[in-house]
Amino acid sequence: MSDIPPKSLGSVQSVEMGNFRGIPTCACPACGSNLIQITATFCPHTYELEMYLLDNAQCAECDALLTAPTPIDHPAAS
Ligand SMILES: [Zn+2]
Repeated sequence: MSDIPPKSLGSVQSVEMGNFRGIPTCACPACGSNLIQITATFCPHTYELEMYLLDNAQCAECDALLTAPTPIDHPAAS
């Protein structure tokens, strides 16, 4: 028998690490780190970064949930 209540998984995640998804950012709002984990695909011919998932980003330092930025999200781009 497991002692872990099934409903606690989602709430534990949001308490222990920040959730800043929805706001594109290049630096973690929680710890200030600019090292961000993303899920990406690479071009098989050039090995260049081809695309990355915006809503699957996470701070590499504190594991806060982030939304990855794109160039058009930059304030100077508008
Ligand atoms: Zn962080």
